[in-house]
Amino acid sequence: MRSDRSRGQDALPTFDDVVRAHERIAPHAHRTPVLTSRMTDEELGASFFFKAENTQRMGAFKFRGAFHALSRFDAEQRRAGVVAYSSGNHAQAVALSARILGIPATIVMPLDAPASKVAATKGYGAEVVTYDRYAQDREEIGQALAAERGLTLIPPYDHPDVMAGQGTAAKELFEDVGPLDALYVPLGGGGLLSGSLLSAGALSPDCAVYGVEPEAGDDARRSLREGRIVHIDTPRTIADGAQTQHVGEHPFGIIRDRVTDILTASDDELVACMRLFASRMKTVVEPTGCLGFAAARAHAASGELRGARVGVVISGGNIDLDRFTELLGGRRRG
Ligand SMILES: *Cc1c(COP(=O)(O)O)cnc(C)c1O
Repeated sequence: MRSDRSRGQDALPTFDDVVRAHERIAPHAHRTPVLTSRMTDEELGASFFFKAENTQRMGAFKFRGAFHALSRFDAEQRRAGVVAYSSGNHAQAVALSARILGIPATIVMPLDAPASKVAATKGYGAEVVTYDRYAQDREEIGQALAAERGLTLIPPYDHPDVMAGQGTAAKELFEDVGPLDALYVPLGGGGLLSGSLLSAGALSPDCAVYGVEPEAGDDARRSLREGRIVHIDTPRTIADGAQTQHVGEHPFGIIRDRVTDILTASDDELVACMRLFASRMKTVVEPTGCLGFAAARAHAASGELRGARVGVVISGGNIDLDRFTELLGGRRRG
């Protein structure tokens, strides 16, 4: 990759980078609302503040990191274009950001990606290159395209500009509601959690910050315990935005030193939260977006949060309505 950018790619971002990222994305990203629910507060014995990134542009916080990273391209990078590999929210975030900034985008997606996601990505004007996920390696394809066409590869989490952009969601939350006692953040590759830790450290230094990953794939928890990045097979979970096989190196550099703990949530607990968000807060949340609340509910049930001020990041809301009703119809527990 280009030498003038590789220098910055080795350093971990700081809160100053989150502040600068916020200035760049503010004209284009929504300052998403903070939801509250009196019934939930009474039931759980704490004051909850939900940062509704399911209402962010393209339906997830990923717009923040992608737009920030693309906005820092130099003239030559803008002309040549960006490449990203993802079947989920990062693809749409890069495609939308590229369209806003007038940068050509190429997105590498699996042949069997949901038609709605391929259509959404193409709808933002990106070129979609498909691959066979059982026979081909998407990182190799992305890197080959980058080399052949001079494109800049923007990964979904392992990049300082992406991490700084993701940190702006928690920054807004602390600015809007003040310091918190605890913050619960969904965790896949660690971009959102590492950025949130930077904002918490500066704006609410006594706040306990938890990353929450699917129970089926507790690689980050094990990584924290072992002090090195643990790799696992793709976990089977409905939390498709957190089906990562390992956390990123840059995010881990921040998470390892600053996170309070890493927790997990089961698929059943995620569905229970989808139901609560829909019924009490009238908002559609995808399974991955429920990870933070699921763990916070468990903590509250154990009496750990009595009287506390608790932040929860709702990370995204992209789920087909058919899938949504299928998941909620199948389970009645809450
Ligand atoms: C990508 C994603 C996550 C995980 O974010 P990381 O930065 O990879 O940890 C969580 N929730 C949603 C909705 C996502 O799209």
